[in-house]
Amino acid sequence: MKVLKFGGTSVGSTKNINKVISILGAYSITDQIICVVSAVGGITDRLLKAGTLANQKDKGYVAEFEAIKKTHFNLVAELIPKQNKSVLNHVENTLLELKSLLDGIYLINELSPKTSDKLVSFGELLSSYIITETLKNQKANAELKNSQELIVTNSNFTKAEVDYSLTNKNIKAYFKSIDHKITVLPGFVSKSKIGEITTLGRGGSDFTAAIIAAALKVEQLEIWTDVSGMFTANPKLVKQAFPIEKISYQEAMELSHFGAKVLYPPTVQPVFDLNIPIHIKNTLKPDDAGTIISKNSTNNKAPIKGITHISNIALLTLEGSGMVGIPGFSKRLFETLAQEKINVILITQASSEHSICFGIETKDAELAKNTLDATFENEISLHKINPIILEDNLSIIAVIGDNIKNHQGVSGKMFSALGKNNINIRAIAQGASERNISAVIADKDVKKALNTLHERFFEVKTKQLNLFITGVGNVGEKLIDQIEQQHNFLKKNLKIDVRIVGLANSKKMIFNAEGINLSNWASQFHYADKSSLKGFLNKVIALNLRNSIFVDVTANEAVAELYADYLKNSIAVVACSKIACSSTYENYKNLQDLSLKYNAPFLYETNVGAGLPIINTLNNLVASGDKVTSIQAVLSGSLNFVFNNFSDHTNFHDTVKRAQFEGYTEPDPRIDLSGIDVARKILILARENGGIMEIEDIQNDSFLTPANLESKSVDEFYKTLKADEAHFQKLYASAKAKNCQLKYVAEFKKGKAKVGLREIPEGHPFYNLEGKDNIVMFYTQRYPEQPLIVKGAGAGADVTASGLFADIIQIANK
Ligand code: ADP
Ligand code: ASP
Ligand code: MG
Repeated sequence: MKVLKFGGTSVGSTKNINKVISILGAYSITDQIICVVSAVGGITDRLLKAGTLANQKDKGYVAEFEAIKKTHFNLVAELIPKQNKSVLNHVENTLLELKSLLDGIYLINELSPKTSDKLVSFGELLSSYIITETLKNQKANAELKNSQELIVTNSNFTKAEVDYSLTNKNIKAYFKSIDHKITVLPGFVSKSKIGEITTLGRGGSDFTAAIIAAALKVEQLEIWTDVSGMFTANPKLVKQAFPIEKISYQEAMELSHFGAKVLYPPTVQPVFDLNIPIHIKNTLKPDDAGTIISKNSTNNKAPIKGITHISNIALLTLEGSGMVGIPGFSKRLFETLAQEKINVILITQASSEHSICFGIETKDAELAKNTLDATFENEISLHKINPIILEDNLSIIAVIGDNIKNHQGVSGKMFSALGKNNINIRAIAQGASERNISAVIADKDVKKALNTLHERFFEVKTKQLNLFITGVGNVGEKLIDQIEQQHNFLKKNLKIDVRIVGLANSKKMIFNAEGINLSNWASQFHYADKSSLKGFLNKVIALNLRNSIFVDVTANEAVAELYADYLKNSIAVVACSKIACSSTYENYKNLQDLSLKYNAPFLYETNVGAGLPIINTLNNLVASGDKVTSIQAVLSGSLNFVFNNFSDHTNFHDTVKRAQFEGYTEPDPRIDLSGIDVARKILILARENGGIMEIEDIQNDSFLTPANLESKSVDEFYKTLKADEAHFQKLYASAKAKNCQLKYVAEFKKGKAKVGLREIPEGHPFYNLEGKDNIVMFYTQRYPEQPLIVKGAGAGADVTASGLFADIIQIANK
């Protein structure tokens, strides 16, 4: 004998009911089958909605009723297309009864728990009848038995308690007497000893099946639903979740109690002592293995089996100095809650005894606060304790597993993963059984928390990075290309899943929480929303994805001004724009502090030397205790290009034009030629070395003429370059006479920094610096004579993009 229960989705459509029928057909060849069914998917909710509308004197209940009627008539018409008159008559009569009940509620304006139970019982009564008739129509040896005649409860309406001695007797007697193969029963519904209609609580059809399975001591209870087992987390919220092969009764109970809806929590209770395994199966994919719930968990020693959550939680705190050392406060607190039938889901008490904090369902919060304030009225008026503090819009998340007790540091891992993602924890509880660690967090953080913890405990190997890129010019495009190319390599070899979730240019922005398809990202801009910097920021915050990184590939001051907002929301920032780091020291320092405070990396390796590891090298020197005594560097790829190509055979104006044409200068070449860009770079290096400096502190010996420096536009600047050609030729001739090369050099020594054009003699490491290369020499205590040198291409879209990419990967490895 086997007990199978089919849930709402499994009996929710003709197609699915046909699947149920074929499963029953296959089983009944060898076995006697007991089939418990839920109401057709969504009908219980609809019945309750119709009842509520009627109760509120809202005629809308009629439309709800009509929808319920239509669903059932359609099913009959499709499942039993011929000679279905008697079935339709029966369904029609049952619906008429339902209609008059609803009309009654409307008339007298009352919907008591007792009436509500009567109302919702129609769902299961209808579905079980239709399924039995379908089976019979297909010549199956099936009969319907109303479980209200078997399951006896008290009168605790909407969640009645079972009288097992009467119920077990009824079940045994009935099943002894039958000789048909398949018995179909409605789940969820029952009757009290005095014949009132009761129900076993929402989701209670699972429980009905378990009660019958236990009464008959069958070998196995099967719960057929719309997912392939109990998952490591709710598969609707965590894409990477997977079915758990085997799980213990206790683990399943904890998971379901903490929100894994796939199993109604009391279901385990009747089968537990008898050691009857529960097998969770998927009606839509009957070949999938599903989950076995039994006495033994797997041999798998992983500490965590699953992660769950309960929404709509309120946290109440009773606190006050008057509680310390005085017994009886918690007794009175919990007695009051028990009297009001308020279920406490989580409790924590600090060892100082100064406060007790507990979590309950939001719907009970007001009542709990008012009654507790009344209970402690006297102490509150004497200021021994404070009125109850009530916080709302919260959820509980819990990690669950029998093996938590055998592993150290599970809570450490849990809380550090949440903390790293800026998920604020309001309260923590760990059951003495050590099978469960729970935390109270904001509702808005639930999805992120579930995914973060799932990644931490089940996908340790793959880390997802969610990128939001602003600026899709030369460098931005290259970066997207590189990410697309490397995606599979990174996933396979470094276990990093890099996804671009948001992209913006100055006009439009696109988002896709599952990752933008990079093969055609540019064309997606055609249909995109208008972009705004604040709008982009708000969307990144609203998406609230773990490991979010904002990547600034613009040279826009307004973008740089928003870094602080990103960091404050624990969103990492990677920037090639040097505006922020070379702005005021106060701003630079503030961003560093925010990065530390909110655990959000702020990386900008490409600010100096494009993709060359200059800032990283300096940071490593400083972190390892070395002291930098001086920095000598050529940091402008554009100026190096200009002076490598300028000679007495060329002219200065054309050389600068060419540098701009080939993309080596800023859009405004004055920023490079004036030395300001180099000054900013050495300023950043000085700051990274611990220097408190402003841009004005950098001595800038410009080689330009006053006319060049005073030009009001780029065009005018070029004109002055032409006019002052003799000045530049003089600079060249002077260097040539000494057999020197002209290099624009940045220096930092003894807390001072300067930039300027220098004549570099043959043999000096700068002398042969080619093309647009950069070079940095770090003289330190550990490298006193032979400096540590970093040298290579210091400009260009490709190398800048790869520098940004390296920063991104560095964040993944943090
Ligand atoms: P039925 O109608 O078959 O009783 P339910 O809707 O009550 O089905 O339960 C199945 C649903 O439970 C799944 O569709 C899924 O959305 C939800 N669920 C929540 N947590 C889990 C989990 N950990 N594993 C599987 N399903 C879960
Ligand atoms: N139909 C009831 C509900 O929706 C019972 C069940 O489906 O298990 O809660
Ligand atoms: Mg269910």
